[in-house]
Amino acid sequence: MRICVIGTGYVGLVVGVCLSESGNDVICADKDEEKISRLSSCKPTTYEPGLTHYLERNLRERRLCFSTDIRSAVKGRELVFVAVGTPPGPGGQVDMSSVWDATKTIGETIGQYTVVVLKSTVPVGTAKRVREIISSLTDKEFSVVSNPEFLKEGAAIADFMKPDRVIVGLEPEDTRAREIMRELYEPFLRTGKPFLEMSQTSAEVCKYACNSMLATRISFMNQLANFCNAAGADVNEVRKGMGVDPRIGPQFLFPGVGFGGSCFPKDLSALIAAGSELGVEMDLLDAVREVNNRQKRLIVGRVKKHFGENLSGKKGAVWGLSFKPRTDDMREAPSILIIEGLLAAGAELAVFDPVAMEAARGILGDRVGYAERDYEALRGANFLVVVTEWNEFRRPDFRRMKESMQEPVIFDGRNIYSRAYMERLGFVYYGIGC
Ligand code: NAD
Repeated sequence: MRICVIGTGYVGLVVGVCLSESGNDVICADKDEEKISRLSSCKPTTYEPGLTHYLERNLRERRLCFSTDIRSAVKGRELVFVAVGTPPGPGGQVDMSSVWDATKTIGETIGQYTVVVLKSTVPVGTAKRVREIISSLTDKEFSVVSNPEFLKEGAAIADFMKPDRVIVGLEPEDTRAREIMRELYEPFLRTGKPFLEMSQTSAEVCKYACNSMLATRISFMNQLANFCNAAGADVNEVRKGMGVDPRIGPQFLFPGVGFGGSCFPKDLSALIAAGSELGVEMDLLDAVREVNNRQKRLIVGRVKKHFGENLSGKKGAVWGLSFKPRTDDMREAPSILIIEGLLAAGAELAVFDPVAMEAARGILGDRVGYAERDYEALRGANFLVVVTEWNEFRRPDFRRMKESMQEPVIFDGRNIYSRAYMERLGFVYYGIGC
């Protein structure tokens, strides 16, 4: 199929690359010239495991190309994906300006029947509004499909190539778009995972519902961890006891420093704002957000409790900056708030992340030191804060760590170490609820 993807960020790039991998002819269009120029010369713009390999192969095979000319990219395509950003706007509302821009371009440009696929996470009613805008600009036939994306950064290629499900929101009578969407996704659903058709409104809600549910589990576990801390229980033991219950399951039961990233906080706020517009109390989700905001401040409080309110003269190391492992995405990363809090209290910091150093530099500037390696950040440190659970931090050379540090104090924001083991080695250990 001839496909255009508008928006070549974390989602659009993966969508474009994976659709070309299954044999489609794909053009990815973005208004960001630097991004397009890098991608055209086969340089990935985000860190995502497996991406470079697919990017190289499909560029070489000429199934994939990139452009800043969005109008030309849309012309003559059977499917046009909208994968532009939908960042938070004022009052938790979604900033839809990029979606409307892309919609307008599509309406002004299409010259034949086109399926417009909404990949971006968008509020209820967007598909309807997109249809109205395009209708007002063209007399060509088109369909609008809501097709929310569930990929996870850090595992995005695998998630897109083998999705748990594909959700397609359509108008019930739109058999033409239904057949095209089924054919498009057939190569990705060979293991029998479901292709779920539903109303567009349900598809739009589904994405917000999933992210809000996951955020709720995280906040629940974070609050429970704090309770365990006070009660003298070990949340890791409690978590295991919970996770074997098939009604609960083991995933998303890991307490930590709070959730971040470009999706959970934004989608939670968007659902709260949409609820309040419709006159529905969203107080559970309000609490999820509040618990998360508190959790992001927990580590700084613990460091101050250990060393005193004034941290001047104290050197801290921070391991892990991205909002989660295997990505360079720093959007809403808890590390930012933790680092800001430690700096405000006077600490001197050296930070390390396997891939997010460049992105972090753009946010933190020269207010922190950037270590070339994890151990280098520890040199002369009074404490270490582990913020992101990258695999390489899980089994380091603890003796070397202890020798490098001035004081062996660890604030483990992801519970990747065992208290008993660390204390045996002579570390002062602070976990989250354990
Ligand atoms: P992003 O900010 O990484 O990428 C958005 C891209 O769109 C940018 O490259 C930007 O230059 C481009 N863009 C903006 N306006 C444009 C326009 N008018 N024309 C052409 N290009 C334009 O965002 P992302 O993380 O890829 O997210 C995209 C959407 O997918 C959002 O709605 C997000 O909520 C949703 N989503 C994200 C994830 C994720 O893990 N990042 C997962 C599922 C869904």
